[in-house]
Amino acid sequence: MATEAFLQQLMTNPDRLNSLAEDAKELALFHGIITRTHETPNSSEVVTYFPVTLFPTPVPKAAFLQALAVQTHYNTLVDKISQDPDFLEEALTGTIQADDFTARLFGIYRQVQQEGQAQSIVVGLNRSDYMLDQRDDGTVSLKQIEINTISAAGFGTTDHLPVVHRHTLKSVGLLKESESIPDTNSITPGMSAALAKGWELYGQPKAVILFLVEDVQISKLTHLCMEKELWNRNIPVIRRRFEEVSRRASLGDDKKLFIDGLEVAVVYFRYGYMPDNYTEETWDARLLMERSLAVKCPDISTHLAGTKKVQQVLAKPGVLEKFFPGQPQIVEQIRATFTGLYTLDMGPEGDQAVAMALANPDKFVLKPQREGGGNNYFGEDIVRVLQEVKSEKRRAAYILMDRIRPRTDLNVLLRRGLPLKITSVCCELGICGAYVRHGEEMVLNEVPGHILRTKSIEHNDAGILAGVSVSDNPLIS
Ligand code: ADP
Ligand code: MG
Ligand code: MG
Repeated sequence: MATEAFLQQLMTNPDRLNSLAEDAKELALFHGIITRTHETPNSSEVVTYFPVTLFPTPVPKAAFLQALAVQTHYNTLVDKISQDPDFLEEALTGTIQADDFTARLFGIYRQVQQEGQAQSIVVGLNRSDYMLDQRDDGTVSLKQIEINTISAAGFGTTDHLPVVHRHTLKSVGLLKESESIPDTNSITPGMSAALAKGWELYGQPKAVILFLVEDVQISKLTHLCMEKELWNRNIPVIRRRFEEVSRRASLGDDKKLFIDGLEVAVVYFRYGYMPDNYTEETWDARLLMERSLAVKCPDISTHLAGTKKVQQVLAKPGVLEKFFPGQPQIVEQIRATFTGLYTLDMGPEGDQAVAMALANPDKFVLKPQREGGGNNYFGEDIVRVLQEVKSEKRRAAYILMDRIRPRTDLNVLLRRGLPLKITSVCCELGICGAYVRHGEEMVLNEVPGHILRTKSIEHNDAGILAGVSVSDNPLIS
C-alpha cells in the first residue's frame, strides 16, 4: 500500500513527520474538527483538535460496501426486536437475574408494557460496528463487534475529516489515493433528519426536542452539530441534564412531557447508557420519560435490543429467521457479519462455553452488559473472572465472543499530549443507521454514513472518550 510505504519512509524523517502532523492539526482546527478538553470539559474557553489519525487507513471496498448494504436490515431488525416482548423477556431472563443495570432497565420496560405505551412513534439512531477479521489465507472478512442503539456517537465535529486526510495524501504526492476517501459530511444531517421526522410526526410546532446530556459535557460541540441542523429547520432544541429532568419535568394531560414550561416532542438520549449515569432520582426521571407521550430516541425497548446479550441470542440457529420470515437473503446478509457468540447462562451450553474459554482464553472476549469502552475482558483476565463466577448465576451477566484478529496497519495517532510516533494500529468501522417508525409503518429507514475509529494494537478495548481510539477515514482499496 502506498501510504504504508510512505509511513516506513517517515520513520527515518522525524522533521517531515512533525511538519505533516502540524499541518493536519491546523487543518483540523480550520474545519472545526475540535473538542473540549478533559481538563475543562464544561467550558469552551479552551478547545483543541479532535483526536485523529494522520493518514486514512486502508479498508477493502467489498467489506465497506457490505457493511453499508446490510445496515437498513439492521435498522429493521433492531426495531422488530424492540416490538417483541416475548423475545426480549426470554433473551434477557438470565441476564436480569445476574446484572442489576439490565434488571433496572428491564423493570422500566415492564412497567411501560403493563401501562401500555403512550407513544407509537419511535426514532432509532444506531451504529453497527465492525472489524475486519484477518483470515489465515490473508483475506479479510467483515465481522460485527456490536450494535449501539443508545447514544451512538462518533460523528459531528469530525464529519469533515476527509478534507484533512485528502490534503495529507496530496501533500505527500499520493494524489490518486486522495480520491479514495469517501465523504462523511451527510452523517449529521442524516441522523438529525430522523429526529426532525419524529418531531414533525408528533405534530406540535411549539414542542421541543430535548437532548438529555451528560454532567461532564466534553461532547457538547458534537451535539451542537445536530442541534444546528434542527434549529435550521426551525425545530427548537433544549439541553438538560438528568438531574434537571428529575427535578423539573412532569407529565400533563395525556402523559405529555413538560419541562420548564415547554412541551417535549422528542427525547434524544445522549446519556443514560451506563450504571454510573444514574442515581435513584434519575432512575425515576428515566421512567417518567419512558411513560410519557414524548417520542424517545431510543425508547427503553430499543435500548434493550442493543444489549450484548440480545446480540448473542440473535446468533443462535433459527432466531434471525423468526424476524425475517420468508426472507432468507436478508437473514444470510445479516448472519454473514456474525462471529461466534456463546451464552454463559446456567446450563450445559453455558458450561461448555466456560470450558472453551478457560482452555483458550486468547481466542475469546468476555463481555458484560456495558457500553462506552473499557469493560471487556481479554486473555488471562477472562480466566480470572470466569474462575470466580463460573459456578454461579452471576456468570449470566456476561456473554462470550470469538476474538477478532483485525489486520494491522501503520499510522500516526494525533492526540494532544501523545508523543508523535509511527504506530501499529487496527481500525473499527461504524455504520450509522437512522429510522423512524409510526405505529406499524417504517416511515424512514436510512444509512446516513460511516465512521472509522483507529487504535494502537497495544490496547484490547477501545473508546474515543476512554482516550484509546481516534477518528479516522477508510481509504477504500
Ligand atoms: P462497548 O459497548 O463498550 O463499545 P464493544 O463490544 O464495542 O463494547 O467492545 C469495546 C472494544 O473492545 C471494541 O471497540 C473493540 O476494540 C474490542 N472488542 C470488542 N469485541 C471484540 C472482539 N470480538 N474481538 C476483538 N476485539 C473486540
Ligand atoms: Mg457499545
Ligand atoms: Mg463499541
